[in-house]
Amino acid sequence: MRHILILGGTTEARQLAAALAPLPGLRVTSSLAGRVSAPRLPVGEVRVGGFGGPAGLAHWLREHQVQTLIDATHPFARVISRNAAEAAAAVHVPLLALRRPSWVPVAGDRWHPVDSLEQAAAALPGLGRRALLTTGRLGLAAFAAVAGVHLVARSVEQPDPPLPPDLTVLLARGPFRLDGERAVFREHRIDVLVTKDSGGAATAPKLAVARELGLPVLIVRRPELPAGVPEVPDVAGVVGELGLDPGNVSSIGPGGEQHPEWST
Ligand code: NAP
Repeated sequence: MRHILILGGTTEARQLAAALAPLPGLRVTSSLAGRVSAPRLPVGEVRVGGFGGPAGLAHWLREHQVQTLIDATHPFARVISRNAAEAAAAVHVPLLALRRPSWVPVAGDRWHPVDSLEQAAAALPGLGRRALLTTGRLGLAAFAAVAGVHLVARSVEQPDPPLPPDLTVLLARGPFRLDGERAVFREHRIDVLVTKDSGGAATAPKLAVARELGLPVLIVRRPELPAGVPEVPDVAGVVGELGLDPGNVSSIGPGGEQHPEWST
């Protein structure tokens, strides 16, 4: 059996597990960080929790005789991607990254790209007075000192204190639809959007609403993948790179579903 470890926590990782797990000759294990109490579990074997840094991951790869490592984590999960590259190199296990493509601006967009949540927080007061923040509950701390802007933060689970003082929390789980997003912007009188460049269809409607309303968008650029890691944009790309017959894979297709752990 060829043992494949998928570092997951995304819709694409679940799609990949669903596509690969039924194939004969493959053993598929998905790994989740364990950030939320009740994650939606992938098909196949699942392990939960950190490995203990790159050395721990390398040990796990060796101990469980993993032949291929697939980093299908979120584009902003930079530590685990770095660890994956280091561990895979250490134990000579091939590594492949599955990354959904970035969002691309179209005519009418007023995007302000920044390199970090901290830069977004610094730029925010210059762009609006009522911000929709879809950067995830763990990123809220970066906005703690923002003054003069009411923050409407959307997340799946209640964020932990300390929280910014002028804050409304919207508990919601994607995917999000255009009409629902229009209502959020209207009801909360949003005049600026803050988002990471997560990519994917499930959370893209907010960008369309900002465009319709001519509103500025602070968009945090993705961190770079570690150098030398081959990257594919979707499940079909992984199937190709693994040399599997796509005809045997029943569930290849674009997602549309947002991972339950996060709001971005
Ligand atoms: P991170 O900062 O890159 O990683 C921090 C630590 O969490 C890693 O060092 C590792 O611990 C552990 N970890 C992360 N992903 C793991 C996985 N799939 N399996 C086992 N351990 C994992 O990660 P993060 O940004 O907090 O993201 C955590 C999880 O949420 C990832 O699975 C990611 O795909 C998902 N997610 C993240 C975002 C986001 O915006 N960051 C959005 C949607 C989903 P050890 O060093 O102990 O191994």
